[in-house]
Amino acid sequence: MSSGTALADLREFSYQGESYAFEPKSLKFRPTGRDNPRLAQHFEEVSTREPVLRPMPAGGISFITLNVAHDCNMACPYCFAKQGLYGGRDRKLMDSESARRSVDWLFEQAGQKPEVYLRFLGGEPLMNVPVIREAALYAEEKARQSGKRIYMSINTNGTLFNADIAKMLTDHRMTVSISMDGTRAAHNTFRVFRNGTGTYDAVVRNVGRFLAVDPDTMINATLTAENLDVDEYAELFRSLGVKMVRFAVVGTAVPEIAVAKEEKLARLLAAYDRLAVTYRDQLLSGDVWYLADFYKYFGNFRTLEKRHNRCGAGTAYVNVDVDGNVNLCHRFTTDGTQRIGKVTSKTVDVPLGIRTRDQLQATSASVPSGPEVSQLTGQPGIRALKLAGEEPKMRGASVPAHLHRQLDGTAFFEQIDSTAGVTSANVCAGCDIRHVCGGSCFHDGEILYGDLFGGPDGFKCEVDRHLAKISMWLLDSIFQHDPTLLDRLDDLHLRSQQHHAE
Ligand code: SF4
Ligand code: SF4
Repeated sequence: MSSGTALADLREFSYQGESYAFEPKSLKFRPTGRDNPRLAQHFEEVSTREPVLRPMPAGGISFITLNVAHDCNMACPYCFAKQGLYGGRDRKLMDSESARRSVDWLFEQAGQKPEVYLRFLGGEPLMNVPVIREAALYAEEKARQSGKRIYMSINTNGTLFNADIAKMLTDHRMTVSISMDGTRAAHNTFRVFRNGTGTYDAVVRNVGRFLAVDPDTMINATLTAENLDVDEYAELFRSLGVKMVRFAVVGTAVPEIAVAKEEKLARLLAAYDRLAVTYRDQLLSGDVWYLADFYKYFGNFRTLEKRHNRCGAGTAYVNVDVDGNVNLCHRFTTDGTQRIGKVTSKTVDVPLGIRTRDQLQATSASVPSGPEVSQLTGQPGIRALKLAGEEPKMRGASVPAHLHRQLDGTAFFEQIDSTAGVTSANVCAGCDIRHVCGGSCFHDGEILYGDLFGGPDGFKCEVDRHLAKISMWLLDSIFQHDPTLLDRLDDLHLRSQQHHAE
């Protein structure tokens, strides 16, 4: 083993022909068989203190996605919002009164937090430009009065653009995220207009226009069983002038198109491997761009700080639907299982498990990750909700069994059913990357197992553990060649937070 910080309880793994030793409890890692003095020195410096859990910020929800349109000019069959209708029967646009009330609510909830985030969502939010403009003006006024800083962003399908939209985005300094899946064939597989024709040409035509307004425009690409070639897609996005990219994997919760078969997973990981090599070469040659997938663990691996939660749903972030209902996150809005308030009321009924976990993590050096809190199920307030009026879609045998593997490939957990209520069966507690991942997604837990803390989607975990390996390999290269690249990446990451504060 090479010199440097002493590591205990090591997990050894290889990636791209390099060997590494990683200590899951401390998050320190190092190459084996050779030195990386700068990386070792970095860890020496940051490890003069114990790894910390950063206290949860004071104040409450400071980020909302605001559904200004439960309507869309597209009809993608895989849409989490059910073609923009969020499970409703009627197409609907938010009125300005509801939008203003939602902004009031956001500022109230934020308490002492100095920054608030307002993200316009649909359906297609650009079908309701007048209300976005009104809400934006109102939010700016509230920010002035309260001394807070407001960040506004919009998530669009990229098919609508005109001078009015450009002016609105510019006037309110909104950052833009465009949903685009990749090459023409990949994109048009699911991203279609209501008449079924593909939207690729319309989106490509507009990407440059959005970039002219917001040079940090981000592309959000959805990966399904049908489109997995992230390396090709990234190359295309870069050729369009984009420097901010994020891929999101459709999981087992949408079984028809999920990346939930071993051969699909292998194809995706191989594409990530090809992209990792290209990305590293580009970075080292000074071509710095932001790929959220590769960056997402950079912060924790460098600071040795541990994540509290996978996301801020319920503690920092919620979704507000077109009628002013507050939902735990945007994904819960369609099935309505975690409606936790209304913007007309000050109180938010955050499920106890989330609040309790939050408190535990603010004070404890342990990381109760994911289902660990499920030992609290059965207490009043813990809600193991089923989808309204029906059994959870995929309970029991219909959930594909999944064998979780550590970074070195060792199988450590067979996930065959809910882990909820079985403390000893906490998949996250034994996972190598629990301290950087933060545990399972509440929505996956609920949809797959009927419990917010029911456990993760194992296929997504394999992707996450693979990304953790890529992350360490990239950091090794960056520290070896030019650590100042990290400053530029951190800067892009900060800007990306205006797109995603989840
Ligand atoms: S990768 Fe999966 S098992 Fe590991 S901590 Fe994250 S959600 Fe839990
Ligand atoms: S990680 Fe899951 S619970 Fe959190 S915001 Fe995303 S979909 Fe919602």
